[in-house]
Amino acid sequence: MTDGDDVGDRAANPDAPDPSDAYVVPTETDSDTETAWRRELAEKGELTPGAVDALMSRHDGRGARAIEAVSEGRVKRYRDFTVVVGHADEYVVEDGGCTCKDSAYNLDPEDPTERCWHVLAVAIAERIGEVDYHEMWYSEVRDFL
Ligand SMILES: [Zn+2]
Repeated sequence: MTDGDDVGDRAANPDAPDPSDAYVVPTETDSDTETAWRRELAEKGELTPGAVDALMSRHDGRGARAIEAVSEGRVKRYRDFTVVVGHADEYVVEDGGCTCKDSAYNLDPEDPTERCWHVLAVAIAERIGEVDYHEMWYSEVRDFL
């Protein structure tokens, strides 16, 4: 009797993220080792020892910072953008690229083994279900941050 109210339009939840959505950071890269750990995370849905090892050994400090950010819930998806919260600023990660200076000056966008920790963090978080969803437009909220 009291439970009768919510029968019916439970399926209609347009705000729920669709897990079949394409990842912001693609799985397939020109590097077999990069593709391998992304696939492993997507299949297992959790941070595996093999993936951690690949991140730490191939991305040095960036891998460690990415894992730390994911564990602290600092990968956020807004309606319009996916954002990683750093210590001094926030960075938008789109199409496998990032707005940070590390990406702009230190890394080769053509080389899939060279990625900043923001991109790595998004790649991890979206595969293991650790993205923090916000039903807001980042373009609107970032002025208040
Ligand atoms: Zn970055």
